[in-house]
Amino acid sequence: MKAIMGLEIHVHLLTDSKFFCRCPTDYENKEPNENTCPICCGFPGSKPKANKKVIDCTIMVAKALNCKINPQMFFSRKSYFYPDMPKNFQITQYEIPLATKGYLEITNKKIGITRVHMEEDPAKLFHIGGDILSAKYILADYNRAGIPLIEIVTDPDFRTTKEVREFLTKISSILEHLEVYDSSKEAALRVDANVSLEGGERVEIKNITGFKNVEKGLNYEMVRQESVRRMGMEVQRETRHFNAETRTTASLRKKEFEEDYGYIFEPDLTRIEISDKWLKEIDKKMPELPDQRIERLVKDYGVTRYQARVVVYTDKALADFFEECCKIYKKPVDIIKWIVTDLLKSLNWNKVTIRKSKVKPKTFIELLKLIDTGKITARLGKEVIKDYVVTGKSPKEIVEKKGLTLIDEDKLIKSVKEVIKKNSQAVEDYKKGKKKAMEYLIGQVLRKIKARADPNKIRRLIEKLV
Ligand SMILES: [Zn+2]
Repeated sequence: MKAIMGLEIHVHLLTDSKFFCRCPTDYENKEPNENTCPICCGFPGSKPKANKKVIDCTIMVAKALNCKINPQMFFSRKSYFYPDMPKNFQITQYEIPLATKGYLEITNKKIGITRVHMEEDPAKLFHIGGDILSAKYILADYNRAGIPLIEIVTDPDFRTTKEVREFLTKISSILEHLEVYDSSKEAALRVDANVSLEGGERVEIKNITGFKNVEKGLNYEMVRQESVRRMGMEVQRETRHFNAETRTTASLRKKEFEEDYGYIFEPDLTRIEISDKWLKEIDKKMPELPDQRIERLVKDYGVTRYQARVVVYTDKALADFFEECCKIYKKPVDIIKWIVTDLLKSLNWNKVTIRKSKVKPKTFIELLKLIDTGKITARLGKEVIKDYVVTGKSPKEIVEKKGLTLIDEDKLIKSVKEVIKKNSQAVEDYKKGKKKAMEYLIGQVLRKIKARADPNKIRRLIEKLV
């Protein structure tokens, strides 16, 4: 059965203060409810004032997603009764969003963007003694209430979860390049995913963090809907919750329709004109976007498109790191080869991003130079990189401390001779033309000298000495 999927993506914008008051947005390591004031707590009589930076950021995102930007902007109140919003409404945009009708290209396909709008985040709730369905009581922290969010709503254009994953990776990279979002912050990007099977009702999975979880949630939901239909029943239109531990979804509530929320225009905020002058100013601020950057890396540095995509889409900071390295060592092809293989592997293994790691361009280049000048072999370089990523110590120091420099010629010849003597059968096989025997002999020498010589040099020595 054909699946139809669409996304609503909520992104925390990187601003210093909240959307409608001057409370700081940085709530990490803060006491609960420390960053609050009468406005973000919604006390009667308090008056919100829109933060221009939020609108600027949202216009940039809308432009990057090829949207049409409406010349006039309004805010609306979305009424609902839930403890995460004490004033019983959320300031959002409903009737006229900031931008509409955009698109983003993924492999062989355009995904339509229905709308991009701004809203305030509600408080964070802590479910005590259970999860959202079973908690005994709830604690609310309003530090997050009033933090600006943008919501990006797609058309239902996705047919596979692979397309969803590619789209999310791309959106995240665009937001990073626009410098409007910090991907390392907890819950900086949250997704509501809609899915239906052709001819069936649509189910919304609410509030998923992590791209892998979005994929898992959708996959589970497709299987569940298919089995419901196989049993001759109908899929209910509803909102479901994704449990990351069990990788399953559970019913939260029957889906409300947007009209159920009783939207009204927000009377405390005036209409805002988005003039051509304003849009032109934003144009000047638009940075290079990921796809443009990939093309430039290919053209300027001679790297492959695959390598360029890996550094750009893994993390903007990784692409920045690559370009920093190229400034101090003019060997881009070698640099990127080490980044996309061993460096990335080691970072992933240690579950650390380049920005949070101790890896720096200067010391990373030091390692490449050790290999290029023949001080250590590439094989040992792979070992050094593992230590280097964890400790951040100078690769030169690591090599010296571990005694990894190449052994001298006499010692190498002696070791080769010993291996030849000990492995007469392999030597015979090699002479009979068995290529594998040579590889075996080289391997034995490398083991004996702890890889402190170039394998090609060992090969030549063996050829000479047998
Ligand atoms: Zn406030």
